[in-house]
Amino acid sequence: MKFASLGSGSRGNATIVTTGKTTVMIDCGFSAREAVKRLQMLSVEPERIDAILITHEHADHMAGVRVMARKYNIPVYTTPGTAGCLPVDVQSHIHEFNCHHPFSINDLEIQPFPVPHDAREPSQFVLGDGQYRLGLLTDVGSLTPIIEQTLSGCDALLLEANHDMTMLEQGEYPEHLKQRVGGRLGHLNNVQSATLLEKIDTSNLQHIMAMHISEKNNCPTIVVPLLAEALGCEHDWIGIAQQDAGFGWREITNR
Ligand SMILES: [Zn+2]
Ligand SMILES: [Zn+2]
Repeated sequence: MKFASLGSGSRGNATIVTTGKTTVMIDCGFSAREAVKRLQMLSVEPERIDAILITHEHADHMAGVRVMARKYNIPVYTTPGTAGCLPVDVQSHIHEFNCHHPFSINDLEIQPFPVPHDAREPSQFVLGDGQYRLGLLTDVGSLTPIIEQTLSGCDALLLEANHDMTMLEQGEYPEHLKQRVGGRLGHLNNVQSATLLEKIDTSNLQHIMAMHISEKNNCPTIVVPLLAEALGCEHDWIGIAQQDAGFGWREITNR
């Protein structure tokens, strides 16, 4: 199983995962034109995408979904709550899933799980090919037992490290935005991300990518040592997803 990011952060998110046989895009928060450009850099033809999975309706996750789905005739998978927020002319592409029930797209197994975030019915995913599991967690304000259970034992983790609490408190965001981002339905701060890594089984972990890093309220030089300490690993093993470039292909392999 291989995965890459087209970009990650409050100005747009999209992740691509492929088993070789099945390719899915998780979220498309870039315009379709921009997404196609970024896909080209990863050598992915948009026609090859078998499905778009949407985590929730915030613009940084679905701005390009309508055009991508219609132009390239791609099925869209999401919860009923999120589906209700999508434009009318994309509804015929939607396949709704129950965020407590796993489902498959060809040889790709998808285990959705609910998360606390200020959206209608947000979910995040663990994707599996029968051998390996890739966990995705962004846009979540607090950790829950179901998050810890589901992400335990993954082979790769794409984990939000949105903000440094002090930088958020002392930063230039208006008070209501500080409350939102730092709240229980907001985004994970660095300490919460590190705490999750300390709590779950990370013995299979081959890749850890820090995602959705705030450009105003965080910095990779703070994120990397914190996550490395939580995992007891070298700093250079912690990957960073960038807003403008995401990250290139990574593969989960037989060790
Ligand atoms: Zn987001
Ligand atoms: Zn969001």
